Amino acid sequence: MDKIEHIGIAVKDIEASNEIYTNLLGEGPYKMEEVLTEGVRTSFFKTGPNKIELLEATDDASPIAKFIKKRGEGIHHIAFSVNDIEAEMQRLKNEGFVLLNDKPKKGADNKWVAFVHPKTTSGVLVELCQER
Ligand code: ZN
Repeated sequence: MDKIEHIGIAVKDIEASNEIYTNLLGEGPYKMEEVLTEGVRTSFFKTGPNKIELLEATDDASPIAKFIKKRGEGIHHIAFSVNDIEAEMQRLKNEGFVLLNDKPKKGADNKWVAFVHPKTTSGVLVELCQER
C-alpha cells in the first residue's frame, strides 16, 4: 500500500456537512459525485496532500444509511491507494483478511475500489483504491 488516499466520513446531510467542512478546512469541495451502484452522494475536499470524502446515503438500502443507523455520523472508512488492486486483494486474502468484493468495482473520484471487512481489521472498514 502506498499511502492513505482519503478518509471517508458518513454524514446525514451532505449539504450541511459540506458547509461544516468548508469552514473547517478553509476551502470548499473540489468535486461532488453520486455513485448510483453504492447508493451514495459524495463530496471530496483537499487538505494539503490529503483528502476527505463525505458520504451521504441516497436510499435506505445504502451501506451508509445502515452505518448511520447503527453508529451515527462519523468516520466510515480509511482508503489506501495501491498500484495493483487485484494483486493487493490477493495478497490480503492470502493474509486471511475478508474482502467484501471479489473484484474491484468502480468507485467515486475515478477509482477502482475494493473493501476489506472491518471484522478482520480491528473494526475499521478499509478501502483499497487505484486510479482508473
Ligand atoms: Zn472512499
